[in-house]
Amino acid sequence: MAYSNKAKEFFDGEIKGIQEAGTFKEERFIESPQAANITVEYPVGTDTKEVLNFCANNYLGLSNHPDVIKAAHDGLESRGYGMSSVRFICGTQDIHDELERKLTEFLGTEATVLFASCMDANAGVFDVVLDKEDAMIADRLVHASIVDGMRLCKAQLYNYKHMNMDHLEEKLKETQDCRFRMIITDGVFSMDGDIAPLDKIVELGGKYDAMVMVDDSHSTGFMGKTGRGTHEHCGVFGKIDIITTTLGKALGGASGGCVSGRKEIVDLCRQRARPYLFSNTVPPVIITAANKVIDLISKTTDRRDKLENNTEYFRTKMTEAGFDIREGVHPIVPIMLYNAKLAQDMARDLYNEGIYVIGFSFPVVAKGQARIRVQISAGHEKEHLDKAIAAFTKVGGNYNILGKGKKEIIEMYGY
Ligand SMILES: *Cc1c(COP(=O)(O)O)cnc(C)c1O
Repeated sequence: MAYSNKAKEFFDGEIKGIQEAGTFKEERFIESPQAANITVEYPVGTDTKEVLNFCANNYLGLSNHPDVIKAAHDGLESRGYGMSSVRFICGTQDIHDELERKLTEFLGTEATVLFASCMDANAGVFDVVLDKEDAMIADRLVHASIVDGMRLCKAQLYNYKHMNMDHLEEKLKETQDCRFRMIITDGVFSMDGDIAPLDKIVELGGKYDAMVMVDDSHSTGFMGKTGRGTHEHCGVFGKIDIITTTLGKALGGASGGCVSGRKEIVDLCRQRARPYLFSNTVPPVIITAANKVIDLISKTTDRRDKLENNTEYFRTKMTEAGFDIREGVHPIVPIMLYNAKLAQDMARDLYNEGIYVIGFSFPVVAKGQARIRVQISAGHEKEHLDKAIAAFTKVGGNYNILGKGKKEIIEMYGY
């Protein structure tokens, strides 16, 4: 080992600083498949415990679905384990093309190109489409992977206030002299479950000749009447120039992502997107399983309907129980607690009651906006929801926050 104590002491100090700030992230070992019911070893080294999972992105409950697992086995048998190549050398199988076509159909676009992840899709797409004389106009709360993707692109960067259409329009006026403009947003924002007003965004895009790019990772598969995503939910299906999304959430939750949209942009990504050109092909097992997922959710809306019903039930009951939850219809349900320690303490107590949730605080959310983010799944049965609601009510009662709003909770616990 080559580096000196000077460097070691610096890194140790950084880690200590994170611990002292109370933002050190500990991993818990799950010793079962991902599902509503999981077996967890936490703290690591202690006995395992059966808990109900309320913090996965497993929105449709497909992560451990028998048909999906079977399709993965079939892929392994028929197309092998790895491709040992990028797509354009010898890493493209017929099944990759099949999945790209299916995603195109499902998302209502013209073409699709797969990436190893949505993070990679976002890292590649901006640099392919835009250059120095162009402008990126992004919502201030876009996902970190978009922030990083925009950093890799030479276009000028503008922000608009979160979901503020007047401010977006101002920025569009300000950038009239640029060659191309792109409006950039998450379809659904992951911390709040906020749904971007895509109808208005598309309208502004049309009015000012700006492209519209939407990262729909927290929406593909279940938002909208047939689960196509935020564009369907907002009535602008087929009208988004560029959609990026992930296979790592509702669509089985393994890994993989894509850029889907206008054909010429997708074609250019195949030629120029660096994470596409210089990173390995998504493996066959994931592709055949993802093909099955798209088949399942194209055939019936049962799962997204169940998710919608579960979400409405949970939101209603938790509001009745006296929790301060951010309003909305998304299965991300932020239970607002404002104080970071309170969020951590309640999450720990809930775990002891058999409910696995995580407290989020700065820097993941703004200071004074600490919360427990609950995520509902179609894999949850009513008894699971009832158990969670009962546990929350018991723990919330212990901290005396039921029926209390922001002001009262902050008076009791501070920021
Ligand atoms: C989860 C997420 C990603 C990352 O997706 P991966 O496929 O896991 O890289 C990107 N964007 C948004 C908005 C996300 O929520």
